[in-house]
Amino acid sequence: MGFLKITNGTLITPFRYIRGGTIVLQDGVIQGVHERDVDVPGAAVMDAQGKFVAPGFIDIHVHGGGGYDFMDGTEEAFLKIVELHAQYGTTSLVPTTLTAEKADLLRTLDTYEKAKLNNNRGASFLGIHLEGPYFSLSQRGAQDPRYIRNPDPTEYEEILAYSSSIVRWSAAPELEGAIQFGRRLREKGILAAIAHTDAVYADVLEAYENGYTLATHLYSAMSGVTRRNAFRYAGAIESALLLDMDVELITDGIHLPPPLLKLVYKIKGADRTALITDAMRAAGMPEGESILGSRTNGLPVLVEDGVAKLLDRSSFAGSVATTNQLVRNMVQLADVSLLDAVRMASATPARIMSVDARKGALVAGKDADLVIFDENINIATTIVNGQIIYTKGQIVNTVQAI
Ligand SMILES: [Zn+2]
Repeated sequence: MGFLKITNGTLITPFRYIRGGTIVLQDGVIQGVHERDVDVPGAAVMDAQGKFVAPGFIDIHVHGGGGYDFMDGTEEAFLKIVELHAQYGTTSLVPTTLTAEKADLLRTLDTYEKAKLNNNRGASFLGIHLEGPYFSLSQRGAQDPRYIRNPDPTEYEEILAYSSSIVRWSAAPELEGAIQFGRRLREKGILAAIAHTDAVYADVLEAYENGYTLATHLYSAMSGVTRRNAFRYAGAIESALLLDMDVELITDGIHLPPPLLKLVYKIKGADRTALITDAMRAAGMPEGESILGSRTNGLPVLVEDGVAKLLDRSSFAGSVATTNQLVRNMVQLADVSLLDAVRMASATPARIMSVDARKGALVAGKDADLVIFDENINIATTIVNGQIIYTKGQIVNTVQAI
């Protein structure tokens, strides 16, 4: 593989802008980032035509897209999902499961291993996120209540022993056994996150001390301030905001209204907030009837108004967002700078998933994962590991005369 030089763009590193900068890629790695054009004999040249050039977006919580769900149990589903999301700027993602029986989770882990070997046309995989099944029934949202249970060491030890690809696990910290579970995850180097929880501050504080460092889709399926008799208690939301936890936000513009996006950004800033799609299979598809979870035993849902809902419309059932929409919404709905919005979709999720040594910034030595987009965050080109895997075609790729 030779050199690829991208010129005439505004680079977003994402800690600063480099206007008129040049970035040189070689063998899947960023070889150099320059303030001006540089001579690279023999390099292929891509003209960014004045567009933005940013690190590829990293989605650490996503279930599906393009009509497929990671729980479908097929390699095809995994590959179609990463292909779909790459078209919208995602260069790596964490496939996420739903609450399910153990057998289904193990099958999904098997499928992941197979898909990983053949993934060369979409976003790359960062490992698996198990969302559930250890959740609070009262905060289940669209998670299937039949499968919700307390952490059981016999069960989770078997799952942990089964796969070395689990990088994240979401659970409700107030459940019996959840603290021990968090400690075990920390010991294994797996990110523990609080989710679908009715916890109060004391629960979250203890969880934080014992390994839970991230709040899964803050505000969604999570307790706020409650009253017991006359006394008020801070819920999971306030606790996550108060403690030095990382948070992730579904910024599809529907799950959370602009004031809440602004509030979280004001308190947590770009360093502790990761934008996630939490997308289900209907992302990138026409609206209408769909299924949340696997085709065989998932829940029927309705996609309308740009979001998936349970059929009785009592709850959202996942988003249909794409990562470029997340960034656009933070800029347009929450008045966040483009620099910080991109950071929340790149450097911050990379750090949360402990892949920041390789990903999340335009810096020499890191993986050549890039996106090129216009001022409205429409994606023109997506590059994963130095390979152009998506381009709208208006960017010309020619070999430079030596
Ligand atoms: Zn989810």
